[in-house]
Amino acid sequence: MREYDKVIFELSQEGRRAYSLPKLDVEARDLEDFFPEGALRKDDLDFPQVSQQELVRHYTHLSMKNYSLDNDFYPLGSCTMKYNPKINEVMARLDGFANIHPLQEEDQVQGALRLMYELDLWLREITGMDKMSLCPGAGAHGEFAGIMTIRRYHEARGDHKRNKIIVPDSAHGTNPATAAMAGCEIVEVKSDGEGRVDLDSLREAVGPDTCALMLTNPNTAGVFEKDIEAITQIVHEAGGLCYYDGANANAILGQVRPGDTGFDVVHLNLHKTFSTPHGGGGPGAGPIGVKKDLVDYLPKPTVEKEGDHYRLDLDRKESCGRLKDFQGHFGIMVRAYAYLLALGAQGLKETSTMAVLNANYIQVALEEDYNRAIPGLCMHECLFGGLKEAPEGIKTLDVAKRLMDKGFHPPTVYFPLIVPEALMIEPTESESKETLDRFIQAMKEIAQEAKTAPDLLKEAPHDTPVRRPDEILAARKPILSYQEEE
Ligand SMILES: *Cc1c(COP(=O)(O)O)cnc(C)c1O
Repeated sequence: MREYDKVIFELSQEGRRAYSLPKLDVEARDLEDFFPEGALRKDDLDFPQVSQQELVRHYTHLSMKNYSLDNDFYPLGSCTMKYNPKINEVMARLDGFANIHPLQEEDQVQGALRLMYELDLWLREITGMDKMSLCPGAGAHGEFAGIMTIRRYHEARGDHKRNKIIVPDSAHGTNPATAAMAGCEIVEVKSDGEGRVDLDSLREAVGPDTCALMLTNPNTAGVFEKDIEAITQIVHEAGGLCYYDGANANAILGQVRPGDTGFDVVHLNLHKTFSTPHGGGGPGAGPIGVKKDLVDYLPKPTVEKEGDHYRLDLDRKESCGRLKDFQGHFGIMVRAYAYLLALGAQGLKETSTMAVLNANYIQVALEEDYNRAIPGLCMHECLFGGLKEAPEGIKTLDVAKRLMDKGFHPPTVYFPLIVPEALMIEPTESESKETLDRFIQAMKEIAQEAKTAPDLLKEAPHDTPVRRPDEILAARKPILSYQEEE
């Protein structure tokens, strides 16, 4: 281990300073006039005392332990780790966007409201919906908003018995979780051999108690539901509505619109498809769109335009309610808006074309060494079921760990659950052919090593500060402090 690979946390030495503050220009007694006695701090904070250089090095070393999209390829399936152009960060930090306050008068923030309104229009055009709600703060939050909107729709029609949500067995875990949070029962339908919804199982599953079907298309196996119109028709004939999980919209941008294939409600993840860095748990945005029959039930507020004036509509009597403070994560909306303006309609279409081409390039290049999970072309991600030839005991997990030695972030593993030893690779549109070739080369080397030197895989990763943590223990009893417990 190099010296700087160690992260030493106890650096404090009495009297060292990393900053110099401007001279205090308020009198202490003035503060006492403003704040109650108990709210004023009397003693200094117990902060570490370090020099500026030590401070810079500490955080730089920490950042070097992190793997990010700015380091190299990050093919995490179902996560769309695409390049987020830096100009969008600059836009979100512009004074007029970053320093406004949600309680400001409507007249003072017309530009921000206009941006939201125009983003709403763009997203309607992309999804084929009639109105958006921009408030949800994440994909899962959008799902919840969408299902609550659907529930309000049924209730407003006096249709009170619809409490079942149909979810395919290949669904993202947030779908059944959303159904449960919304107080519904979950009905699982089987997929066929190609990861597509089995029409007969769907026919059996629907009925007078069907609230909605939740579907991802392309599904989590990277396959487009060719029977999509039959699927949405079966649900509609039973009186249910169709919910489209559009978290990863990278395959459909400018190609096909959920609203044109029978869906009533859609959510998008602005932080996956529309340029907000994600993966560190920061804020996201999961706006939802609905067809006109559902507009009244959307969460509040919505953004409306009257003449030349933009306003937030809080006075929505039939709304399913307020799901977030203020109007949602505005900074994420700015990034998405800038991204859309820069790409334009043609650029969006090229995005999805390249995303699908890149995934198929990898799929074909790796099929000699890895089990193809599903025949035919894939959409924006490709799915394998582990190594073709591997000695007993060499698993997908070992392949993923060995990739870290070769400098890549591993793909998504063991998801979707319908494919044993799943490896789900989503390259996105933003990678060059050279990068894809380096990744393919590494995956092929690993397939060889599995046969000739399997211990290299079993013991990987070899060079990371943390190697193979006990994942159950790490999730159940995480140690969140650098100090050892007493
Ligand atoms: C990422 C994802 C979600 C959840 O989005 P969050 O923003 O993480 O809540 C839902 N569905 C699918 C298919 C996803 O890939």
